[in-house]
Amino acid sequence: MHLSPLFSSCLELLNTRIILEEFFVSSLSKPLLKIDGRIGEGGGQILRTALALSLCTKTPFQIEQIRAKRKKPGLLAQHLTCVRAATQIGNAQVQGDELGSTTLRFEPGELQAGKFEFDIGTAGSTTLVLQAVLPALGLANAPSELLLHGGTHNPAAPTFDFLQHTLAPVLARIGLGLELSLERHGFYPAGGGRIRVKVTPCAGYSPLELVDRSPIRERSAHILLLNLPESLVRRESILLQPALGVEPELQQASGHGQANVVSIRLRSDELCETFTAFGDPRLRVEAITRGLIDLAMEYDRSGAPVGPHLADQLIVFMALAGEGRFRTSFATPHTKTAIEVCRLFLGRAPQLEKAGKTVMVVMG
Ligand code: ATP
Repeated sequence: MHLSPLFSSCLELLNTRIILEEFFVSSLSKPLLKIDGRIGEGGGQILRTALALSLCTKTPFQIEQIRAKRKKPGLLAQHLTCVRAATQIGNAQVQGDELGSTTLRFEPGELQAGKFEFDIGTAGSTTLVLQAVLPALGLANAPSELLLHGGTHNPAAPTFDFLQHTLAPVLARIGLGLELSLERHGFYPAGGGRIRVKVTPCAGYSPLELVDRSPIRERSAHILLLNLPESLVRRESILLQPALGVEPELQQASGHGQANVVSIRLRSDELCETFTAFGDPRLRVEAITRGLIDLAMEYDRSGAPVGPHLADQLIVFMALAGEGRFRTSFATPHTKTAIEVCRLFLGRAPQLEKAGKTVMVVMG
């Protein structure tokens, strides 16, 4: 059929417009997800889980009442660095990215792999910043390298050692490659630590199957000391040695401030779990060490492979994989909260099922 030149040009313009509209509709098609920061445990984990899933699914979100259940609500330096890291890696548009902010709007663009450096500027946890961006970098189309400055061994956060010995090997099983180096220790309140993380991505996460655990075949204890007397080590060793059957390994850290971090690693054929306690001048070192030994023994007795902290850190990866299951000794409020946030973004999420005295986490 012969068309007049004018008619052909109009048709071309129309086609171009349709293509452009389709492009914009597809990139903006997801409605803004509203999140209430008071759900579940009501802390920073809701924000980090939301950032991670927003980057992976290209879903814009607005969160209000950030960290509403904490003494000092709103974004602290660590949370703000999570937002800044996610903004850069996800080429996102963001509003409310200020210290103390209790509302944030985040609209992700194209995910970008590459070399990144983020400085928390305080002793805030570098491993928690990683939590916000790792699921997306693991699905990017090229490797990435992150240099993170801040705390490397923080109470109430995964320590660098937990990342290296516990989380990274499990993530390797689902396809995500991590090469980790601790370049400088960072403790509260001085900070100044530095970790380097090389990420080898995969096309999609494989389902994790971690239901059974063989008996613990290796027990070890590790004491990290910074500018504190070695008499502490003797008092800790007196309790750790008989409980584990091995002498603890001592590592002297260098840097400012003071720190005493004690960790126990329990290795089975399936994985290595890490339990950590921090010295506290208000508490007797014996009480802290006994509490740590009890935690590790409780995990050992439970027979479950996945400890309570590892469990909440696997939820996002499992939800993105779409299937899989693992058994954990105990489902914490953090685990339940991560599940809630996954449900908001994905419409489905891992389920918790009772398995004797343990809990099965099942997806798909
Ligand atoms: P908040 O907003 O509560 O002040 P936050 O943003 O620093 O705090 P949380 O939201 O409480 O952190 O999340 C803490 C994360 O650290 C969780 O993923 C939890 O599993 C992990 N975590 C806490 N303690 C340990 C530990 N001893 N070993 C490994 N991971 C830990």
